[in-house]
Amino acid sequence: MTEIIVSGMRPTGSLHLGHYVGVIKNWLKFQEDYESYFFLADWHAVTSNYHSIDVIKRSRHEYVKGWLACGVSTDKAHIYNQSDIPEILNLAQFFLTMTPPGWADRSPSWKDLKVNPNRRLDNLGFYTYPILQSADIAIVRGNLVPIGEDQLTHLEISREIIRKFNRLYHTDLPEPSPKLTKIPKLLGIDGAKMSSSTGNVITLQESPKSLQKKINKMKTDETRAGIESPGNPDNCSVFDYHKIFSTDTLKAETESACKAAQLGCGECKKNLGQTMKELLIPIADKMSKITDSECDDILAQGKKIVGEKIRNNWNKLRHQAGF
Ligand code: SF4
Repeated sequence: MTEIIVSGMRPTGSLHLGHYVGVIKNWLKFQEDYESYFFLADWHAVTSNYHSIDVIKRSRHEYVKGWLACGVSTDKAHIYNQSDIPEILNLAQFFLTMTPPGWADRSPSWKDLKVNPNRRLDNLGFYTYPILQSADIAIVRGNLVPIGEDQLTHLEISREIIRKFNRLYHTDLPEPSPKLTKIPKLLGIDGAKMSSSTGNVITLQESPKSLQKKINKMKTDETRAGIESPGNPDNCSVFDYHKIFSTDTLKAETESACKAAQLGCGECKKNLGQTMKELLIPIADKMSKITDSECDDILAQGKKIVGEKIRNNWNKLRHQAGF
């Protein structure tokens, strides 16, 4: 049986390095090994951006350009926009009606929101988004979902919803399994959680000048008195980036030279800048050559091909459920 993997990204701003290492790099592997469904999760984006829909609209093209520039291929994977295919919402509505509120209460994102004094629930879409997520997976009969360990509960909710649906309506939707992915620790340039909304990210389209400027602002080992004293790379955001992006040789040299007080932070940041330029400039260059209309064509193709598959699946489920 062909394994079907499903993964979406919420188009809510600029594509950045966190997306690259946490999602896109994995997609490049998946598209070789599985029948892959990669989508713009724009309905999910609405739950946090309903008051600034323009951001979602603007981000759609950027995301598709970034995916293609990094190597995601329409010859190997399906690319589509969630809101172009209304049958996903039809199934989500069906799932909503049979999901007890207690299941949605278990969602880690919802629990985080409840304990965070700076946030409050201002829409039910956010509360019920694990249910829409379940429909995203089930509607293409996905059996693999790439997630980090911290998202296992989300997938467990989907498995329970799908199991209940199968039991009630004698359907045979696959219960999706986690495809656990290693997500390297990559914080923002200020050492806090990476987020487009706080501007602490390095985007995939950073100019060389702004890239180096951002790297120069990164936090280093604050206990290091100066170039003459040894540094601790394990306590340094710059080295965290070296660990992910630099060659093994540069990593080893940086670590030992820092500990031996033979490398200044300025030079270390310049080296990181060079590494990042080698990675990002070709991506930015490719992105700049992909037009909006090419992206529209790709999404139109996804709407047609994936839409047809989804419509067939939905009609079959609806018929089986007697609805
Ligand atoms: S030399 Fe590099 S690794 Fe060491 S503290 Fe400075 S920036 Fe960090």
